[in-house]
Amino acid sequence: MPKFPTTRLRRLRQHPRVRDLVRETRLSPHDFVLPLFIRHGQNERIPIGSMPGNFQLTVDHLAAEAREIAGLGIPAVILFGIPEHKDAVGSDAYSEQGIVQQGVDAIKQAAPDLLVMTDVCFCEFTDHGHCGIVNDRHGSPDVDNDATLEILVKEAVSHARAGADLIAPSGMMDGMIQALRTGLDGEGFEHIPIMSYAAKYSSAFYGPFRDAAESAPQFGDRRTYQMDPANGAEALREVALDLEEGADILMVKPALSYLDVIYRVKQAHPEVPLAAYNVSGEFAMVKAAAANGWIDEQRVALELLLSIRRAGADMILTYHAKDACRWLAGD
Ligand SMILES: [Zn+2]
Repeated sequence: MPKFPTTRLRRLRQHPRVRDLVRETRLSPHDFVLPLFIRHGQNERIPIGSMPGNFQLTVDHLAAEAREIAGLGIPAVILFGIPEHKDAVGSDAYSEQGIVQQGVDAIKQAAPDLLVMTDVCFCEFTDHGHCGIVNDRHGSPDVDNDATLEILVKEAVSHARAGADLIAPSGMMDGMIQALRTGLDGEGFEHIPIMSYAAKYSSAFYGPFRDAAESAPQFGDRRTYQMDPANGAEALREVALDLEEGADILMVKPALSYLDVIYRVKQAHPEVPLAAYNVSGEFAMVKAAAANGWIDEQRVALELLLSIRRAGADMILTYHAKDACRWLAGD
């Protein structure tokens, strides 16, 4: 490559139209999935304090919400439910009248073209707040992996029956994808894709979500199933296993402190669609700094989303989805 003064990289930065032409990464509404929190009750829209602009919605609010989201060009939502009653096995999670099942139905009726993904886990539904069935077979209370697989299948099948378009298991149980694929196929849902939270870290950035979904663990933490933030190579083992077990889309969660993991997963599996979850704590930090006048929210949020795409994510689950669509449209 010829050196300066022949090569001047600033030439390509001079004209805004040239900058447009050589831009490597772009954001569009098609990149986003918006998480929604649904609760039982009537005509309630409860603001989530640590996540400004996000609400716990009752089912009767979902039709208007779904139409607004579809109108912004966002292709998909992912549903999280807050049940009326929690119990040891999270039975609302696989009840036909469960909150997520009702939510799926309401959204599909109001906006049939809006893709409805469901988070498949138990932490919002169990009274102990863990992601599955807890026992102390090994001397201290812990989530029983294989017992949890059975109820995960029941949950996923009930979501599919309710009309969910895509199942997104987030519990980090071993063998989870194979169990769900077999379970869904056995019930005639072989056409429903699975997006695996394949590399999900035990992260402090989930704090605001746990308020939103009322899902903080009542004892201990999730380190026996979620990944150690110190580990990058292990993420490659997790995603390789999930692919073998039949995952259609992979996910890395959280996104911003794990851009290296996103990059490594995309490099290892460029042919597989990759999602990243821009989690509640990442969102809340931007909102709080912006509210203090310390940063320009629009520019910072779009730059962060762009960085997630540049690292290798094909799609981003983000609480900034609606704002980002308005900003990208120039509103
Ligand atoms: Zn969980």
